[in-house]
Amino acid sequence: MRLRHITLTLVWVSLFLMPASVMGGLWTVGVGPVELMDPLASLSLLATGSATAKALLAGLPLVLLVMALGRFFCGWLCPYRPLLGLSRIVRAALLGRGWRLPEVRLGPRSAFYSLGFVLLLSVAAGFPVAVFVYPPAIMMREASTLALYGSIGFGLFTLTGMFLYDVFVSPSGFCQDLCPGGAVFRLLGRTSPVRLVRDKEKCVPCHACDVVCPLGQAPMTDRVTSGCERCGLCAAACPTDALKFELGQPLPIFAPEGRGP
Ligand code: SF4
Ligand code: SF4
Repeated sequence: MRLRHITLTLVWVSLFLMPASVMGGLWTVGVGPVELMDPLASLSLLATGSATAKALLAGLPLVLLVMALGRFFCGWLCPYRPLLGLSRIVRAALLGRGWRLPEVRLGPRSAFYSLGFVLLLSVAAGFPVAVFVYPPAIMMREASTLALYGSIGFGLFTLTGMFLYDVFVSPSGFCQDLCPGGAVFRLLGRTSPVRLVRDKEKCVPCHACDVVCPLGQAPMTDRVTSGCERCGLCAAACPTDALKFELGQPLPIFAPEGRGP
């Protein structure tokens, strides 16, 4: 079992089998005395004017980790990630049976617009609107509702909608084009020196890496943006071992976001 599968399994086990031991509250995860907060949560609290020094401090470790490692949270820790993988399997099976499914793309900047919209709404409403549209927050809330009351709330419909959107409308569409948290990780992750590097001498080129990437990156032509979640699926799929993560130049902070740095 790959290390990434182990971390995602642990996240699910923590969420759904022992939520009481990891829940610190909405937005935060408490493990013993340590409390950690999602960067989108910190931003949302700032937007609503309710951020405290303690809350911002709880957000700092993940902010620093993402700045160092890039958008790794999505590939290694997000509880929605297994559902994204499942949606790709279901979509591939339907396509294999002859279904004709659209492949809608909203544009390389759409997730940033989504983030801006969610934060503006939070300012206007005085409430962190992201809790209704950000999968990790939804899943934490639903897991604790299940643990405390034995029931599931409206979040299940939202998650189902995201899953169906990924299957029937836009492959990996929510994570690529809409998730406000993914947009925060992409912005912070631009400072990361960890880059996917292709050895041109070894590259065949066979497109295996481009096909396996769940987030629309194109490693075979070196078009890998801040959207890369550092999952390593491309490197594992490469038949000639041409792809590796190495330390290098971070992405230019203000470079346009497209399919390519
Ligand atoms: S883009 Fe959002 S939902 Fe998708 S893996 Fe990242 S944090 Fe999770
Ligand atoms: S480029 Fe490779 S490491 Fe990055 S998201 Fe795609 S498959 Fe994962």
